[in-house]
Amino acid sequence: MRILIISDIHANLTAFEQVLQDAANQWDYVWCLGDVVGYGPDPNESVELLRSLPHLCLAGNHDWAALGRLDIRTFNPDARKAVNWTRETLTPENIAYLEALPTTFVLGDYTLAHGSPREPVWEYILEPLIAAINFSHFETPYCLVGHTHQPVIYEMVSDQGDTEAIMPVYRQQRQLNGRRQIINPGSVGQPRDANPDAAYALLDTERGIFEPRRIAYNVSAVQKRMRKYDMPERLIARLEHGW
Ligand code: ZN
Repeated sequence: MRILIISDIHANLTAFEQVLQDAANQWDYVWCLGDVVGYGPDPNESVELLRSLPHLCLAGNHDWAALGRLDIRTFNPDARKAVNWTRETLTPENIAYLEALPTTFVLGDYTLAHGSPREPVWEYILEPLIAAINFSHFETPYCLVGHTHQPVIYEMVSDQGDTEAIMPVYRQQRQLNGRRQIINPGSVGQPRDANPDAAYALLDTERGIFEPRRIAYNVSAVQKRMRKYDMPERLIARLEHGW
């Protein structure tokens, strides 16, 4: 099956629509790795667009925050303000949808989690050492995660568990080689790798071919809506810089 892999839409409808347009007719099913809402101005529209597609979706920490499931005192003040706005804005139907999201999925050769297989909602895999520890927490050859908003592949390169980070080469097909990998497609709606373009990936599960992609979208249209809703200026500014 041809899978569209997306993560961390973060209520950015413009970026989400751009990804769908860029990937049109190239996938059969969507795997969404969580954080559909939080930060951005379009929580209902983003959830509803996702719900209109053939898909599965995992719960992310921001989805849980919007449901009031976790203590947001650890969030920074800007993130907290966005969480409260999101919570007040979501419709009961979309809240019910988010409530029902699972934290992990195992499908064939792939384990899916928002953060990591060890701590599905919470853990950030930001370096090879953390990835290496996580390989013992899933059984399949490959694991797909989001959460860091940084596209990367961590590959186990020795039987001793040595792990290397491989930077993505966009729009280049990569044959999955049977070596164990933890793959992050990056973030659709709030990239944090100094590249403001929306990130996503395509995966052909039968042929084992993975292709990371970036696509520019109309950032200023999203910023305009965020200003309309009086969202924190720092959250508005970061979209154009990708941090
Ligand atoms: Zn996120």
